[in-house]
Amino acid sequence: MKTSMRDCVTMVAALACLTTFARGDDATAVRSFTVGDARIDVVTTVFPADDKPVHVAFVSVHDDEDTAVEAAGDVLRDRGGRLVELRHTGAREIVFALGGTDHRIDPNRIFTPAGRRATLEALSTWSQPADDVVAAFADELLSIFAVDDVNLVVAIHNNTPDRYTAANYAPGGTLAADAARVSLRPGGDPDDFFFVTDAVIFSALADRGHSVILQNEATVTDDGSLSVWCGRMGIPYVNVEAEHGHRTEQAAMLRDLLDAIATVQPRRGGRVQTEPPPGCELVNLHAIDDTIVIDNRYATTDNVTGMRLYPDKGVFLERSAAERLARVQSSLRRRGLGLKVFDGYRPLAVQKALWAVKPDPRYVADPALGSRHNRASAVDVTLVDASGSERPMPSAFDEFGERSHIDFADAPSDRLANRETLQKAMRAEGFMPLATEWWHFDAPGWRAFPVMDANPYDGPLFPDGHPKKESP
Ligand SMILES: [Zn+2]
Repeated sequence: MKTSMRDCVTMVAALACLTTFARGDDATAVRSFTVGDARIDVVTTVFPADDKPVHVAFVSVHDDEDTAVEAAGDVLRDRGGRLVELRHTGAREIVFALGGTDHRIDPNRIFTPAGRRATLEALSTWSQPADDVVAAFADELLSIFAVDDVNLVVAIHNNTPDRYTAANYAPGGTLAADAARVSLRPGGDPDDFFFVTDAVIFSALADRGHSVILQNEATVTDDGSLSVWCGRMGIPYVNVEAEHGHRTEQAAMLRDLLDAIATVQPRRGGRVQTEPPPGCELVNLHAIDDTIVIDNRYATTDNVTGMRLYPDKGVFLERSAAERLARVQSSLRRRGLGLKVFDGYRPLAVQKALWAVKPDPRYVADPALGSRHNRASAVDVTLVDASGSERPMPSAFDEFGERSHIDFADAPSDRLANRETLQKAMRAEGFMPLATEWWHFDAPGWRAFPVMDANPYDGPLFPDGHPKKESP
């Protein structure tokens, strides 16, 4: 039921290799990823600083936007900061082959499910396996951006004259629906502008005479961009947009931005959302597939707290994860097998209750960080036969220790075979395993969804009251 940092690191290591080297006083780290047959280097440069009042992530996702990277280097060498850039072919888009099919994506359109589908369809073709590898890459990128820690994400971009400009957002413009407020600098180059999600930063930059657009969170198109994702997560976001070649102008914009944020000190909103945001739908698993066996331990007294933590109304998951699980069920049923689900979405209040009873990160995810169960993107499952009886596994569900590890080998061969059957079936549909818990799987793209303290159950949480702290 927990997702530990250590296991996350293990999973990442399987996907990427890490090298570090020094460049002057700057520390640079490169992590290489594969998406299909494409190799993408994610380069992080840390420019030392004496004081960093606000924790900011500077990111460049388009490999052809060299002016932005040069301008950021000019500024961050003086002021300090952390810049992450994608490098692959020098082109804006990423092209990869998977299963004999060519795919193409805009790497700034991959952070939500709707955006991934749209970019794959617009530039090539959508397929579930292509979506899965891109979703997993998006999760890793967001981790490298350190989105759990920062108070501000600054994306740096370059554009071609007159194609994408601030004027597009003015009333009557092609992108007017995406903007809540527009401030255009009279006589300024409309290719050089800021696009922000935070009203305070909007005002600070407009006061300094810049062209600025404030994203309209209610009406913005879900194109999977970093601005849409940050808006949903409550993380302040600024896009510093300048024409290719406007290095001096973009550096001046970045300096002004740093001055502005030193004054306004942007803070992220609460990490927790009480309702699913747009594009995130919590569904009852049985509404998607009623052949999956449900054994909702936290709705019974058969769990670590000995109390019912939520009403017995079924297991909920984010829709795309539920549909993914239904595909696993279909493939298992063709072989006379099936899934039994112990838990899926878990409200943050329940995570806190578990933590109160067992405040040990080896066993329970710290609610301050949130579990992927809180994002409705993790599921705890085991294997059943055609009659719905559990197949024996190397350990019990929620047993903590070596026997629960997915590489534990000292168990009867039929138990190891059952674990392997479950692992293979889940991985075949893109689910990602957890090294320390054979029953826990994450859906790729889990970072698209926030930690939620929603109640989808049509009944109150904690029917037996709140569990008490474990006595020392
Ligand atoms: Zn779990």
